[in-house]
Amino acid sequence: MFTTTEIAVLVIVALLGHAMALFWHLAEKRDSPLCSTRIYDVPLKKGQLQREFKNSVLTPLHAVLLGAMLGFGFFDNDSWGSFLITLVCTFIWAEIWHYFSHRAFHLPSLLWIHREHHRSQINSPLTAVSFSFLEKLIFDLGILLPLVIADQFISVNFFGLAAWFIGYLVINSFSHANFEFRPANYNRHVGKLMATTIYHSLHHSRYTGNYGLGTRVLDRLLGTEWEDYERLYDRVCSERRPLSRLKERT
Ligand SMILES: [Zn+2]
Ligand SMILES: [Zn+2]
Repeated sequence: MFTTTEIAVLVIVALLGHAMALFWHLAEKRDSPLCSTRIYDVPLKKGQLQREFKNSVLTPLHAVLLGAMLGFGFFDNDSWGSFLITLVCTFIWAEIWHYFSHRAFHLPSLLWIHREHHRSQINSPLTAVSFSFLEKLIFDLGILLPLVIADQFISVNFFGLAAWFIGYLVINSFSHANFEFRPANYNRHVGKLMATTIYHSLHHSRYTGNYGLGTRVLDRLLGTEWEDYERLYDRVCSERRPLSRLKERT
């Protein structure tokens, strides 16, 4: 039913979130240069890691849903052109879907779906895989179901979609570290479009604003970006002064 390569890719998608958490745990423990620029000098809440680990058992849901759709016969185009088109379209759609669904989750009536992820105000190696089941289900189905519909017309490539999930799991893990690894001048060029770890840390510590997934584009267009973000980035990365309070402004 599945090829060996497809099974191998699904296993990677299922386990990568935890592998990245382990990577950050070891990097911090061994004083890796990746952990030289701390963002918040604030301790984690008691019991945070245990709570996040319990939530993280749901992470293989990405692979289960992706595998189920492959099993139903979707996403069977195997050309390189389709791989690239699928990857680019998924990237763009995921930014749009995540931004608007994330803003909806912050409405008082829907916050219960998203609250579990926000119980982590300072991020840990496991925060990137700590969500409620319903939030992850909505996130995944919102990405996959439009592609199932698109598959009827343009034929979607499974590996292009899996490549996006792999990129998402790696980048999302970097976005939830309490360390910024990008250079101090990042926001002078590519950082005008792309989000950073500090960008998403502010969303957790302040609870609102900076809703974007991998980019700043929709936050900037729709006025939901924290106005002191770039100043704060300079303070943490150039002056090497971490923030000492959750609501600290610059
Ligand atoms: Zn949120
Ligand atoms: Zn988060």
